[in-house]
Amino acid sequence: MNEPSPSPAVVPVTSSPIATAGTAPILQVQDLQVAYGTSVGDVRAVDHVSFTLQAGQRLGLIGESGSGKTTMATALMRLTRPPGRIAGGKVILDGTDLLQLDDNALRKVRLREIALVPQGAMNSLNPVMRVEDQMIDAIVAHEGKQNGKALSARVTAQLARVGLPPQVARRYPHELSGGMKQRTVMAISTVLNPKVIVADEPTSALDVVVQRQVMQTLGRIQEGIGSAVVLIGHDMGLIAQFADLIGVMYAGRLVEFGPVDEMLLSPRHPYTRMLIESIPKLTVKGRLVGIPGLPPALLSLPPGCSFSPRCPYVFDRCRTEAPASQPVGSGRVAACHLYPDNATLPPLPSSVVLDPNAPLAMVGTAMEGVEEPGRAEAEATLADELGAQGAPHAAAGDSAMGVTGLAQSDIDELHGGH
Ligand code: SF4
Repeated sequence: MNEPSPSPAVVPVTSSPIATAGTAPILQVQDLQVAYGTSVGDVRAVDHVSFTLQAGQRLGLIGESGSGKTTMATALMRLTRPPGRIAGGKVILDGTDLLQLDDNALRKVRLREIALVPQGAMNSLNPVMRVEDQMIDAIVAHEGKQNGKALSARVTAQLARVGLPPQVARRYPHELSGGMKQRTVMAISTVLNPKVIVADEPTSALDVVVQRQVMQTLGRIQEGIGSAVVLIGHDMGLIAQFADLIGVMYAGRLVEFGPVDEMLLSPRHPYTRMLIESIPKLTVKGRLVGIPGLPPALLSLPPGCSFSPRCPYVFDRCRTEAPASQPVGSGRVAACHLYPDNATLPPLPSSVVLDPNAPLAMVGTAMEGVEEPGRAEAEATLADELGAQGAPHAAAGDSAMGVTGLAQSDIDELHGGH
């Protein structure tokens, strides 16, 4: 079956109007910590993360592979499995701390109050059940047995909500395209109109056209039921167009958080700034500028700020003391020692070159002399590959951060749209 055309009601992927200021938060994550036990000690995959969302708000959580995004998504649902464990904090959903609920109460909350749209739709659907049976299962588990015709009508209506025709109800997952499977997962996840939708890279396996359609569908559903959304992703383009708020994760920590347009126009954390600098600009030719170095291994984080081995602004204090999150504007926080002494992120130190035409070795010279296991080899390999290919348009550094996903035009569109 082919992917259906988007319904006429489909709207562009744009961020929602931020919920009315002053209303009670629907989701409060306070000091959340998730650890994985290993033979050589605990790995802190989510490290003292806090944020608040109001009904109707969309938060995009962005970070490299291993930054803790998906661990965060599963922790919000209290689906962390051994050897992982939630080591502390609170996940308060509409006044109730999910981390304090017993299993029975938790089962009632999941799907009805907070729902997960997982990545990998094929792995999330039962391959031997028709779509309608899977959806009815979810409804009956929470609401009890109901009239069969009423249930079928509800399935049809829910499929229409995600842009799928009624005949999909009788299909098995293997009879659907990738985009249709993802829509089906979305339909099941939101059939009970949850207050919070956690979408974990819902478009990761889809082509860009279908990605956009799926995100439009998610946005339409979210607006229809007024829920809050936590969208996990690594494609800055999709996140920037969808979200009201962005949280940037690095090595398990939320290093910057704030409204999407302000973050893109005036990032406060050096990592956020370098992510934005690495976005390809259609009007500029030359080597793309990436972030030098590699994300740290969580088992051997550098002392002080985890970003210090890669940060062009690094100074002595950064190498000994981990920065605390602090306000850097209205509704904005950043974890960086540059604040509160600076109102904005200062210009790059003169020793650092972010020139698209500069040799790779010139980018981020402030890193020289900093020990980081594996970094030198990785950069040498990367430099070799770039040199061998003579590829002026290859990006160095953070492949996971949407360097291919967000064109400057996306930012322009975002600014025009607000
Ligand atoms: Fe860079 Fe220091 Fe800020 Fe860390 S604390 S991001 S090393 S300036």
